[in-house]
Amino acid sequence: MIHRRAVATLAVLLVPLAALRFQAAGPLQYRFSFPAPAHHWMQIDVTLPDLGDGPLELHMSRSSPGRYSIHDFAKNVYDLHVVGKDGKEIQTTRPDAETWTAAGHGGAATVHYKVYGDRVDGTYLAVDETHAHLNMPAAIVWGRGLDDRALTLTFTPPAGDSWQVATQLHPGSTKLEFTAPNLQYLIDSPVEFGPVAFRQFSVGDRTFRFAAHHLGTDKELDGFVGEVEKIVRQEGAIFGEYPAYEPGFYTFLADYLPYARADGMEHRNSTVMTSASAIAGGRQDLLDTVAHEFFHGWNVERIRPRSPEPFDLTRPNMSDQPWPAESLTP
Ligand SMILES: [Zn+2]
Repeated sequence: MIHRRAVATLAVLLVPLAALRFQAAGPLQYRFSFPAPAHHWMQIDVTLPDLGDGPLELHMSRSSPGRYSIHDFAKNVYDLHVVGKDGKEIQTTRPDAETWTAAGHGGAATVHYKVYGDRVDGTYLAVDETHAHLNMPAAIVWGRGLDDRALTLTFTPPAGDSWQVATQLHPGSTKLEFTAPNLQYLIDSPVEFGPVAFRQFSVGDRTFRFAAHHLGTDKELDGFVGEVEKIVRQEGAIFGEYPAYEPGFYTFLADYLPYARADGMEHRNSTVMTSASAIAGGRQDLLDTVAHEFFHGWNVERIRPRSPEPFDLTRPNMSDQPWPAESLTP
């Protein structure tokens, strides 16, 4: 028999220990700002607390989830600096084109770099005076061994712009702050930051958001999203239920702009659809892409081929298994 007071004392001792362990590693913070959007680059500042003793190994991805080929994302990264816990810059070594190693950081570091991009599609990124359209593997450097750390992201628009963020990232404490539970979720979360027109509808208890960056009218967008809702209802009827969308909603990210490339890329709780067609002239093709990418919300994102899991950002993820996911998706 254990004396009641002994149990109480034990509980008092255990709670602070558990709390200490839980607090051991703070979130990694990424800040995106756009001081000169006309020149197609953005500034990214990363705060990496609680790094331990070993060298910090920073990587730029060479591949992107859902894309099976290799991409030289590092070629667009420049002006990268690493600052240690004491505020002094650390000389990095560059063992290969997509890796920077920083030793002697003292247990925490901040990383500052620029990324160039001028390509509106589902793989790369674009920064210009009209928006920032970001596929995360093309944008972020990540630290080896930090995959399971939680992340926060903050976006600062160009001076004078009141841009909004559309994304499957989890909403944070402000409209320009977001969180991701880990690196795998972050790299799967594209972002459209710009003069986004939002529409929203519900089916049962599921919420769907359509975030459009386009040059058409509000009325054209209203009519188009009405058609999108029909597709969402039809495909929901095929599967009998919708997935549980982790951030609380599913988001369509649509860039229908003359300078966009034709592309569609599925993600877990969102899709990126880009096209040079406007809603007025390209309605049927644009809806075909909506139908295909939304179907992937089940077939690929949740009924998954085994081989690309977990996704390795350092090499092309070859697979002989995407064919059922692609060919069975209408
Ligand atoms: Zn855009």
